[in-house]
Amino acid sequence: MATIGFIGLGNMGLPMASNLVKAGHEVLGYDASADILQNAKEVGIITCATATDAASEAEILVTMLPNGEILLSVLAEVLPVTPKGALLIDCSTVDVESAKQFHASAKAAGLGSIDAPVSGGIGGAQAGTLTFMIGGSDSDCKKAAPYLDIMGAKQVRCGEGSAGQAAKICNNMLLATTMIGVGEAFSLGKKLGLEPQALYDVMSTSSGSCWSINTYCPVPGVGPTTPADNDYKPGFASSLMIKDAGLAQVAAEQSGQATPMGARALELYKEFAAQSGEDLDFSGIITWLERLERG
Ligand code: NAD
Repeated sequence: MATIGFIGLGNMGLPMASNLVKAGHEVLGYDASADILQNAKEVGIITCATATDAASEAEILVTMLPNGEILLSVLAEVLPVTPKGALLIDCSTVDVESAKQFHASAKAAGLGSIDAPVSGGIGGAQAGTLTFMIGGSDSDCKKAAPYLDIMGAKQVRCGEGSAGQAAKICNNMLLATTMIGVGEAFSLGKKLGLEPQALYDVMSTSSGSCWSINTYCPVPGVGPTTPADNDYKPGFASSLMIKDAGLAQVAAEQSGQATPMGARALELYKEFAAQSGEDLDFSGIITWLERLERG
């Protein structure tokens, strides 16, 4: 069994670390919040007073932090004490440039590294069914696999360092645009007098079908049970969609790629959140679209 350091025990990190404990690993955890550390103790995590304490004996060091700036500042703290040969696994969603710096700093310190952002949300973290999108060398990915296997159900190696973050933001930019498209189609259908169920039956089996209709339909009472059936309680909060769609725009700007739909989707999500709050599920944008007047 391995000694695993785990830094960032929030909504996602705590259940992920808890699954590593349940699998028999020794997990030394650190979070900036004292309340969270108390919860961590209760699930068998050995809590540490500092990030360096969590890292200093780690064979595997997992980070699950809010953004790239925090990731790099934590990294600067822990790299000098992390044992040579240890493997860093960053599961946070961060910008591609920070992910590249993460890999470069790890390499300079003699450590292995993979970026492994996740999809599947808090439910997936609790159930151990996350999907990991992975960037890193073949040997580091192989070394990480048994640990990711405990926390998730699927691993997709997307390429070398930072490829996991790149894939994550491309996917979520697409998701932002499809959810808005689906919301618009149902809103127009309603104005044209269509029953949502009839439109669902057509669109979910026709050329417009996609995950945002078939699996995560934003209309209550239609299709599978989704956050729409629970007053748009997340699920995947709009604040997280705004974060990911924003990271996609930063990457688009830096790489010189035009993404007009992605850029517009980000603007629309920001307008929706400003009026309806950032805590609603991202599929709740349909409620705002339905109210939009044609200008
Ligand atoms: P969260 O805010 O609940 O957790 C982040 C934790 O990091 C907090 O507990 C915070 O106290 C801690 N932290 C902040 N600065 C720190 C520091 N310097 N040292 C140690 N700990 C520090 O966020 P979350 O929902 O757990 O998300 C974590 C990451 O996973 C984010 O990058 C997010 O974009 C990504 N993600 C979240 C979801 C989701 O559904 N929540 C889904 C996919 C990906």
